[in-house]
Amino acid sequence: MPNPKKLLLLAGDGIGPEVMAEVKRLIGFFTQSGIAAFEIEEGLVGGCCYDAHGVAVTEATMARAHAADAVLFGAVGGPKWDTVPYDARPEAGLLRLRKELGLFANIRPAICYPALADSSSLKREVVEGLDIIILRELTGGVYFGEPKTITDLGNGQKRAVDTQLYDTYEIERIARVGFELARRRRNKVTSMEKRNVMKTGVLWREVVGEVHAREYKDVELDHMLADAGGMQLVRWPKQFDVILTDNLFGDILSDIAAMLTGSLGMLPSASLGEVDAKTGRRKALYEPVHGSAPDIAGKGLANPIAMLASFGMALRYSFNMGKEADLLDAAIAAALAKGLRTADIKSPGATIVNTGEMGAAIIGELERLATSPR
Ligand code: NAD
Repeated sequence: MPNPKKLLLLAGDGIGPEVMAEVKRLIGFFTQSGIAAFEIEEGLVGGCCYDAHGVAVTEATMARAHAADAVLFGAVGGPKWDTVPYDARPEAGLLRLRKELGLFANIRPAICYPALADSSSLKREVVEGLDIIILRELTGGVYFGEPKTITDLGNGQKRAVDTQLYDTYEIERIARVGFELARRRRNKVTSMEKRNVMKTGVLWREVVGEVHAREYKDVELDHMLADAGGMQLVRWPKQFDVILTDNLFGDILSDIAAMLTGSLGMLPSASLGEVDAKTGRRKALYEPVHGSAPDIAGKGLANPIAMLASFGMALRYSFNMGKEADLLDAAIAAALAKGLRTADIKSPGATIVNTGEMGAAIIGELERLATSPR
């Protein structure tokens, strides 16, 4: 069996531990069937860590996150921690991980499984079979640029300032991730910015174009204004393969893309950092897009697919196990095609299952697919 892969599991709060339990079962299946060995560590993050240690993430967990090949993150937060000090709030744990691991590239696939095409708010023919990626720059831009202030002007008025700021290197490195992703897919990148009204948009387009001309001429590259891109995303999303965009536009466009696919419980994500000089691997954190869903926590109602698919992204992007990731995607599609649904994606005539039953069904399909002759 190949070298064990070091995974740090941070389940977090609310439904986090429930959906992470299904990942642990899946890892058990991979290990038992000899497909891959994982070295698993677990830690606390978010509200549960605050309860135990008074902080949202401990130094020891941060050290283990740095040492891991990949971090799998569940979800954090809940009403119980609404009044804790700002620096110790559950989200602070996630933000610290993203910042200290230098996770500048956020990958959000929007995949519409055929069996779920009717749960989208768009027409079936617009979304059925959709498979696109929104690649968002995650550590720069207007969310972090200085100055970032509210000043009292003394005349009954205040002035708020945010600063949108990008350096060449930040655009170059995210562009490279985009072109590399496209090469493993349908080989097309659409870069979105607002060069008509923003200087950062002018530089963004220029730098993406230069990286393309220098290093990735084989990939098809289009440029689109981000507002027009939003419109195209709901008009005919299948025209895209990889959408490459900055932090602010990526935040908005990825939420639009999320709605194309039906439910929050279906959406995985990956955040990647620089390639580690020692291991040759990128720092990486994988997490579902959804939060801790306190309204359904502890009831077995959570859909585990976003979490399982996040593990699938770890197989693909951290462990070079694209074949196994494809199998997992096929197993998810097969379980859905059998009519199995958690409550969030229920449809007339479907069989409603709980978190554990959905996890078991997907592993069952995986086992069938892995052993069936192809
Ligand atoms: P949420 O994503 O937790 O829930 C929104 C709605 O979607 C809820 O009705 C919930 O029941 C449903 N839902 C979410 N995931 C589901 C799943 N896997 N299966 C079935 N249904 C699912 O967002 P929210 O309600 O705005 O936030 C709840 C808490 O989560 C807050 O404390 C918030 O700060 C936190 N949060 C954390 C993260 C994170 O950890 N990355 C992200 C978003 C929100």
